[in-house]
Amino acid sequence: MSLYIPFDNSFAELPPEFHSHQMPTPVGEPRLLAYNQDLAEALGIGAAEPEELARVFVGNEIPAGADPLAQLYAGHQFGSFNPQLGDGRAILLGEVVGRDGIRRDIQLKGAGRTPYSRGGDGRAWMGPALREYLVSEAMHSLGIPTTRALAAVATGETVWREGGLPGAVLTRVAKSHLRVGTFQVFASRGQVEALKTLTEYAIARHYPEAEGPMGLLRAVRDAQVELIAAWMSVGFIHGVMNTDNSSIAGETIDYGPCAFMDVYHPSRVFSSIDRMGRYAYSNQPNIAVWNLAQLATALIQQYDAPETVVEEATEIVHAMPDLLEAAWLKKFRAKLGITTVEEGDMGLITDLMRLMAEGQADFTNSFRALVDGDPRDQFLDPEAFDQWEERWQQRLQGEAEPEAVMRAVNPVLIPRNHRIEQMIASAVAGDMAPFERLMAALATPFEVRAEFDDLRRPPAEDEVVKATFCGT
Ligand code: AMP
Ligand code: MG
Repeated sequence: MSLYIPFDNSFAELPPEFHSHQMPTPVGEPRLLAYNQDLAEALGIGAAEPEELARVFVGNEIPAGADPLAQLYAGHQFGSFNPQLGDGRAILLGEVVGRDGIRRDIQLKGAGRTPYSRGGDGRAWMGPALREYLVSEAMHSLGIPTTRALAAVATGETVWREGGLPGAVLTRVAKSHLRVGTFQVFASRGQVEALKTLTEYAIARHYPEAEGPMGLLRAVRDAQVELIAAWMSVGFIHGVMNTDNSSIAGETIDYGPCAFMDVYHPSRVFSSIDRMGRYAYSNQPNIAVWNLAQLATALIQQYDAPETVVEEATEIVHAMPDLLEAAWLKKFRAKLGITTVEEGDMGLITDLMRLMAEGQADFTNSFRALVDGDPRDQFLDPEAFDQWEERWQQRLQGEAEPEAVMRAVNPVLIPRNHRIEQMIASAVAGDMAPFERLMAALATPFEVRAEFDDLRRPPAEDEVVKATFCGT
């Protein structure tokens, strides 16, 4: 009896130029590291022994109904266009329609080479696989749209990076893996029919109420606005907001050198490859607009007379900064317990953020301390905070339940970098206990639970992680 997965594939039915059929490359000794039982059940996946789950989710055994393939896409990487990327180490097994009626991709990441691997080995090592597992599930528990993690399996093989590292495959679940770059590849090649097919497919799958390419553009914009505002509200830095890592479904996707900030600083960068700060924390809204402009440019190529829609496309893109500001304001008002709208709110929020930056305050702990803690303790210069607090207390008059509002949006726990690094070191040494403990804690990030108090602590000086490295 083999693992039951209720596959119902649609992307595989698209014309051949969309993908390459590709089997995963088997590995020697698969070993299940983590499995998301709740997600499996929500997707209607049957039960199986760990050994069988390991074989399936490493790519050694292909379950009935799977139609493994690598997807084609292009993308702007750090601003320069790469005309062909594609799944270089990811293989889509197929899609399932979950209990909630939503269609989702089941994809193996690190399952071997594909026709799009270029120089790469098609593999991933355990560190980034477990990092993505943990951070994407934490993101989900924070209520932020994201791909999910279904399984992590050690391959028993060595992956060569700066040295030899233990290999792993991550099984990722996504509303789809359609990216801005999926549109760009056909637009840049002048494949108008493929572009039309893709547009129809994306609308039917994600935004059935959207009308035509411009309707799709508007819907993607609105989803990205919500996503970026949500990232900003928890101090999340994606790290590589290339157009190939920008999801049409509006999910956080492709966790590479991402990080949650400890000490707040608007220009914080973690990614070791982001030397110019293009994807710095406070630049993420600008980049989201830039990426949407690339989608607009691609989408208009399918009109017989593109010049007739340029104005509408421009208007859709140009509206994005104001929408981002409004979504950001809404999130940060709530972080201060404010549900009503007043003229001075922007100033109240940005003044606090400036004090946080100057006072080297911990992003997560400062906001949470506003509702249960002593926020003064978070600042190098507590007196500067006192004046701000007076203004804030005045603003809160007339707010019905500011504390409940704040507790629901200011997390107690985030996946802190130094904890992730410690977890990876343990996992590599064969100890999954820190991973499991972090997973348990991050499942309820808004709850104060005494047994996880140590996970609230920012890194000590010698624990600070200065850079995160690309998820290869
Ligand atoms: P990323 O920066 O992870 O979004 O990846 C950018 C591109 O490089 C994508 O096309 C990936 O599939 C490809 N890629 C990344 N790592 C590897 C690898 N180890 N082997 C093959 N392709 C890879
Ligand atoms: Mg990517």
